[in-house]
Amino acid sequence: MTRMRIAVLQEPFSIVLREVEVPKLDSRSVLVRVASCALSGTDVRIYKGVVKTRLPIVLGQEFSGVVVEVGDEVEGVSRGEKVVVEPVLYCGKCVYCRRGLYTLCEQVKVLGVNSDGGLAEYVKVPAYAVHRVPAGLSLEEACLTVPVAVALHAVRRAGVGIGDNVLVFGAGAIGLSALQLARLSGADRVVVVEPVESKRRLAERLGAHETLSPRDMEALGDGAERRLGRFDVVIETSGSVDALRHALMLVGKRGRIVVVGAYGREARLLVDLVVRREVTVTGSWLYPHVFRKALDAIARGIVSVKEYISGRYPLARIEEAFREALKPENIRIIVQP
Ligand SMILES: [Zn+2]
Repeated sequence: MTRMRIAVLQEPFSIVLREVEVPKLDSRSVLVRVASCALSGTDVRIYKGVVKTRLPIVLGQEFSGVVVEVGDEVEGVSRGEKVVVEPVLYCGKCVYCRRGLYTLCEQVKVLGVNSDGGLAEYVKVPAYAVHRVPAGLSLEEACLTVPVAVALHAVRRAGVGIGDNVLVFGAGAIGLSALQLARLSGADRVVVVEPVESKRRLAERLGAHETLSPRDMEALGDGAERRLGRFDVVIETSGSVDALRHALMLVGKRGRIVVVGAYGREARLLVDLVVRREVTVTGSWLYPHVFRKALDAIARGIVSVKEYISGRYPLARIEEAFREALKPENIRIIVQP
């Protein structure tokens, strides 16, 4: 085991397989043999060049596998253990790390975004970044902990509680997880807005009381509020500027809007409305201190991720895998290096 294959994004839409040395371990790291790596929305946006990062890079933030080597100083992780990686690297020393806000670290790096990620046979990660996969949960489902954790942080930032009316924009892996977690938090009614019909149907199977397309929303125009009522909480996962406009239109007085989506451009909010309705607009970034809880929620079967999986490809067919991931009806393509 000295050489391994990796998939390298050289420039947008150009991904190639390379053979390189397996990374050398340091005393506080573990080496993970990757079993499943899901292609996320961020992977797709970097692949298309919409999200800029340093290239070349090995993409893949959502991955799980088996620990095959353990550094000398590592405790609590052993060879042969099944793990999922929380792909956030932090310094542990800056003002935010010292406050426990490690995902807001001044030097934060996300594997697969600005440091090499999981589209490789082996990945070296700090021991603090691995979470043991509970018995009975497949590595394939475990790698989908990331979007559930993103949604869990967002639902907590929104303070969703018993009796709340919740509106979710986007029925990708994050939006569908936010829907499930909002219901688990006691939301009375969850409405989901999503352009792709098969995803709206899935949202309904996962507990949405009603689904609409953005076109339905536009057609309702000023009548949207009369038809849908006002919402206590709006969770915006779609990255659409129009969704943000609708969010403010439909949020109730003292309501909360949590923004998880990435826009890549300026998005406007009608501030007078924020003021007069005393709306709280909150950003939600990554998943501090909730990764383990998200993983356990999947393992216990209270959050279902099975239907997020739209296809499986070996690493050798990585280009095909990305072509599939680009299709809006697919939620997660799993690559098996
Ligand atoms: Zn830090």
